[in-house]
Amino acid sequence: MYKIIDGKLVSQSVKDSVKAEVEVLKEKGVEVTLAVIIVGDDPASRVYVNNKKKACEYVGFRSLEYALPAQTSQEELMALVDELNAREDVNGILCQLPLPKHLDEKAVIEAISPKKDVDAFHAVNVGQIMIGDYDFLPCTPAGVMEMLSYYDIDVTGKNCVVIGRSNIVGKPMAMLLLHKNGTVTITHSRTVDLKNVTNKADILVAAIGKAKFVGEDMVKDGAVVIDVGMNRDENGKLCGDVDFDAVAPKCSYITPVPGGVGPMTIAVLMKNTLKACKLQKNL
Ligand code: NAP
Repeated sequence: MYKIIDGKLVSQSVKDSVKAEVEVLKEKGVEVTLAVIIVGDDPASRVYVNNKKKACEYVGFRSLEYALPAQTSQEELMALVDELNAREDVNGILCQLPLPKHLDEKAVIEAISPKKDVDAFHAVNVGQIMIGDYDFLPCTPAGVMEMLSYYDIDVTGKNCVVIGRSNIVGKPMAMLLLHKNGTVTITHSRTVDLKNVTNKADILVAAIGKAKFVGEDMVKDGAVVIDVGMNRDENGKLCGDVDFDAVAPKCSYITPVPGGVGPMTIAVLMKNTLKACKLQKNL
């Protein structure tokens, strides 16, 4: 019988430990502040930003929102990032992606001070993750690692297969599994005979962006399956990259969608912002 990895439960425990530390900092007169920039009126981005604000409220952070119009110029956006970099009362800066097409996302990511880069997207932070000596971890892959650890799932020596090689999920996910001594294979759209590779996985992470892509024939008996995907099925219902009903009976552990990896991303963002504040204030 498979066990569900409950992202709501694990994310609550991460947020509660952040909240407890924030209370102690408040007693010392220290306030933690996250600045969130949103450009334009993409409805999905608005939902994500609202959820981040709610999480800030829960853990006791001050959150500052900068909602800029869709026609904001690159210069205006960069000026705001510069201003937030310079402000001592701002500990973390997050620019909600994607940005409108006329804006250069890469330039914005690189303009955010690595010390305030709580998404861990800046090249300095990415490089530190590669070396294994880091301050911040990217929120979604770090959230997956938190879930594995919460359920005492040991990665050492396991065959870990990651489907997807994006900079925000697939690549850092593989690196974090490697840091925990997994034997890691990264697969992508050019992988030949994907099923043959995924069928050897003790731990399979799907980060593809295709509804119910991973079927029962791609998963080994007893595997741990982590579904990062957030898609809509043919009826418009939220679903993952894994065909949950077909795959779950073969698994030892599996994450559902919704209620799996999704809530972890914001919980780790809170953890990173707290860490940024502590590092900046030498606490
Ligand atoms: P992405 O940048 O589009 O990357 C998708 C990856 O999947 C690419 O590396 C692509 O390979 C690979 N892929 C596509 N088709 C494939 C196939 N047929 N066989 C094998 N690999 C294939 O997406 P992403 O940003 O990593 O996001 C992936 C999913 O996770 C999306 O559903 C996204 O919404 C979700 N997500 C969730 C969270 C969360 O908080 N839960 C956070 C971030 C993302 P190529 O490189 O060869 O094109």
